[in-house]
Amino acid sequence: MKKINLKKITWMTILIIGYSSCDKNDVPEPDYATEVNSITDEIYNTKTTGTTIEAIYLGRYVTLLEIDNDKYLYDGDVVLDRNDFSLPSEDSNRGVYGGGNWPNRNVRWKYASGVSQDLKNKWTSAMSTWSSQLNFTFTQISSSSGDYILVEQNSSGSAYSTSIGRRGGQQIISVDPRYYGSGNVVHEIGHAVGLIHEQKRPDRDNYIIVNYFNIKPNWTSQYDKCSNCTSNGSFDYNSIMLYGSRASSSVVYDTSIPAMTKKDGSIWNSQRSYLSTGDKAAINAKY
Ligand SMILES: [Zn+2]
Repeated sequence: MKKINLKKITWMTILIIGYSSCDKNDVPEPDYATEVNSITDEIYNTKTTGTTIEAIYLGRYVTLLEIDNDKYLYDGDVVLDRNDFSLPSEDSNRGVYGGGNWPNRNVRWKYASGVSQDLKNKWTSAMSTWSSQLNFTFTQISSSSGDYILVEQNSSGSAYSTSIGRRGGQQIISVDPRYYGSGNVVHEIGHAVGLIHEQKRPDRDNYIIVNYFNIKPNWTSQYDKCSNCTSNGSFDYNSIMLYGSRASSSVVYDTSIPAMTKKDGSIWNSQRSYLSTGDKAAINAKY
């Protein structure tokens, strides 16, 4: 009969416990230093001189300290670069965004079965818009592992994305190519990389009026303000992520009444031809 080596087991137990508590120590700690007096508050460095500038960051006016070339210090230990904020003079139209980022702007994707050549052409064109204008790369995969977009065709007259930003695992962009062009696919990729409908931005009431009384219940959420989202600058009427003032009979009760107007009652048309300055600024702020 084999003898059990108690000494060995004890040492293994200690090793296992020791290893798992090391693991726990590897988890980044929350930023609670300001609540614990004995711990030094985080700072970027000791530099306290330099040019200060007034900027708009996360929708608020803040003072930043220029500490290096294209490096701006905010609140002691937050280092921003020039894409992270706007200057008051720029009045930048920076769209609204949220959700997870795709690392290094690289989007992994694959086709579902049954995607027509028509939709493949539109998808290819939309990818090239994101590549050429915002330096995204798109990697077509054959497996179903990791995070990726499944590009799917539907015949229900729909175009949608199942996620704002990278969700983790599979997420879907589904398009009925009979009704939607490559610009609509650019819009759906916008959702998948983190852009939100411009009419949902938290400060939109300063710019537009939503006629909720005319919008059917299933659609009101498309017009509600977002939470956990960020916007800067002023409302961008040119955003590829903005719905038009008027909506179809599936969305509104009375198509002669706009779903949304500007504050003065005037209307706008949506555009699905190009990424606006604000769309680009939003992505550059997010990534
Ligand atoms: Zn959309």
